[in-house]
Amino acid sequence: MQTPLEQIPKTDKLLNALNLELKTPNPKLLKSLTLEFLDNYRQELLKGGELLDFKSCVKRIIALYQNATQKSLKPLINATGIVVHTNLGRSVFSEEILEEIKPLLTHYNNLEYDVQKGERGERYIHLQRLFKTLLNAEDVLVVNNNAAAVFLILNTFAKGKEVIISRGELIEIGGSFRIPRVMEDSRAILREVGTTNKTHLKDYKDAINENTTILFKAHKSNFAITGFSKEVEFKEIVALAKECNLIDYYDLGSGYFSILDSTFKGFEPSLEVISSLNPSLVSFSGDKLLGGTQAGIIFGKKALIDKLKQNQLLRMLRVDKFTIAALEATLNAYLQGNTKAIPTLQMLLRDKDCLYALAQELAKGIPPCFKAQVIPTKSFSGGGAMPSHYLESFGVAIFKKDLEALNLNESKLEQHLRKSGIIARLENSALILDARTLLEGDLAQIVESFFVLLKEAQCKI
Ligand SMILES: *Cc1c(COP(=O)(O)O)cnc(C)c1O
Repeated sequence: MQTPLEQIPKTDKLLNALNLELKTPNPKLLKSLTLEFLDNYRQELLKGGELLDFKSCVKRIIALYQNATQKSLKPLINATGIVVHTNLGRSVFSEEILEEIKPLLTHYNNLEYDVQKGERGERYIHLQRLFKTLLNAEDVLVVNNNAAAVFLILNTFAKGKEVIISRGELIEIGGSFRIPRVMEDSRAILREVGTTNKTHLKDYKDAINENTTILFKAHKSNFAITGFSKEVEFKEIVALAKECNLIDYYDLGSGYFSILDSTFKGFEPSLEVISSLNPSLVSFSGDKLLGGTQAGIIFGKKALIDKLKQNQLLRMLRVDKFTIAALEATLNAYLQGNTKAIPTLQMLLRDKDCLYALAQELAKGIPPCFKAQVIPTKSFSGGGAMPSHYLESFGVAIFKKDLEALNLNESKLEQHLRKSGIIARLENSALILDARTLLEGDLAQIVESFFVLLKEAQCKI
């Protein structure tokens, strides 16, 4: 009789069987996984582990192969009610626009070619006319992200020179972007003025000297100072900069077009309002409230943008055809008033009736034993806009007390949903699915996940 070790299948035999099953596997990866499996299997047998038949061995290696070739990035359902969710890919990109730009990405194109003249062109030109029409901006430049925009601007104009900024605006935002550190790394000299809660125009004035180059305003993005506080409006900073022949620069973080005024007016100035102040330079993200793709968009005075273009750093920070094509098409949708094409706009502009109807439909679909209830909720724009103000919304709540009969609780439910790609929120002993951030097709998937859980729960009872 054969000893267990002698019954371990031969590598070649396994590989032949695996190749038949997997059709066109990566031979190197398959072999290394097979050897790894056999090695572990041998160890297990030596410890008295169970013998596997040939078929089971093949099955296990296939599972290893599938695991190793599985993609890590997956689509998720955002039921948190936070529209621009930093951890969930920020702005959702438009399916309609993706279709529209597909030919540009899968063909050669005129990214840097002037078809009229038959000579080399400039990649940023494709966005110039749009910014002229939408914002009456002299010129525009796009870099990898808004953090890069801040860095490029400081490095171009403030190397070894002073940049004045309010103490209340020395922000840190997610992913450890700290204004003082960015300044240091760009070799600009930080000149902080005012106090944490109050900064006056006079503080800026008093700090100006012959080495000053920029009056910098940064959007606070993720916090608010309330109570006894004052910040200087950008309008005043622009005027002071003009008077003293300095550059005014607003790091706006998340810029929005006035089409979103109904949501943000009174809390944040729109891009149109900022642009009408005739600023030197403004920068904002392409994938926060704009709802496009990751990019740092800089607009303002042509002479200054020309200088930015001459900085060698731009070669390191520049964007490719994906970004330019995505932004051009997104801005074109704005130009044409096609808000339906931009999911971020759609979600931010959803009215109460629509949110209520969505929540109602979801609640109806969920198996009755979960006792899903439609409740008013607080949703957020995210992306560093209106950090202290919520948007009224509706959602579906499932309460802890109603889960007990199923031998569940709200955190087990949250875990189950999360593992099937649905990100919900826990609040006051309830699980909440907010309607504001649900996209087409999400409802059916959520409902299905509840049915799967119900089946599992009932088996356990
Ligand atoms: C978000 C933000 C940034 C960074 O923008 P990214 O596009 O994430 O690089 C910089 N400044 C402010 C004020 C922001 O809100």
